Amino acid sequence: MRYFAGIDIGSTAIKIAIVDENKKLSGHKISASGSMFYKYAKQALKEMLSELGIDEDSLVYTVATGYGRKLFKEADENISEITANAMGAMAAAENKCDIRTIINIGGQDSKAISLDSEGHVVNFAMNDRCAAGTGKFLDVVAMNLEIEVDELGEYHFRSKGTPLAINSTCAVFAESEIIGLLGNDNSVEDIVAGVHYSIAKRIIKLVKRVGIKEGIYFDGGPALNGGLVSAIENELGMRIFIPEFPQITTSLGAAILAHESYGYDNRA
Ligand code: ADP
Repeated sequence: MRYFAGIDIGSTAIKIAIVDENKKLSGHKISASGSMFYKYAKQALKEMLSELGIDEDSLVYTVATGYGRKLFKEADENISEITANAMGAMAAAENKCDIRTIINIGGQDSKAISLDSEGHVVNFAMNDRCAAGTGKFLDVVAMNLEIEVDELGEYHFRSKGTPLAINSTCAVFAESEIIGLLGNDNSVEDIVAGVHYSIAKRIIKLVKRVGIKEGIYFDGGPALNGGLVSAIENELGMRIFIPEFPQITTSLGAAILAHESYGYDNRA
């Protein structure tokens, strides 16, 4: 069996997906990028192959994507994360949902991608200038509230009142606003719900720049946060599709491109 790898070197995490000759996901791995992300990417790939019992020679083609892709010299090819994200979303939603719009929230940026009926990118918009509306903002909020980022969803659903309004549009001011709300005896639950609704409103503005088309796919680490998903759905008035492994869509797309570039279907 021959295998194909996609490596997404993100600002926060390195994601690796490996597909087999049938483009079926054999396994995936998520590890922290850290400052030496290039070294970690190599190490993570080696560890993953050994965990899956795949011989290094059976890995015949590797495609790198994401913020650190150009520094990963071992890759046979590298592609933009927009293309990889679109390919991965089409594969992850295949036979489940017809995808026309992708919302991706990463550690340090957020994106909206519009697709045609074939899954080709027709337009995209990106926010990489401002931390509000990114995973980093959620990390800072969780830290200020002394909870873990993976608990934000539970707190959101325990909120009883109307979600608090977070009016600051800048992450730095929003942080002070949140500390002020805590000082005024507001519950952590209501603050968390308020933060999710403020991010949802920002994301929807971004999506409007490419045009909201039904068949919405949400990925990136923050898509694991059910509270944020619910806030975006309520603000949009539409259901959104969350893949089984939201953090690995882009690496999955790169792995599928590795399969296509190698030309497996023509060589087999
Ligand atoms: P990047 O591709 O930029 O490295 P990711 O898509 O991996 O970013 O997203 C990282 C963000 O995902 C983190 O900053 C964090 O806020 C969020 N995140 C990661 N794991 C979880 C989780 N289990 N629950 C909720 N949010 C999470």
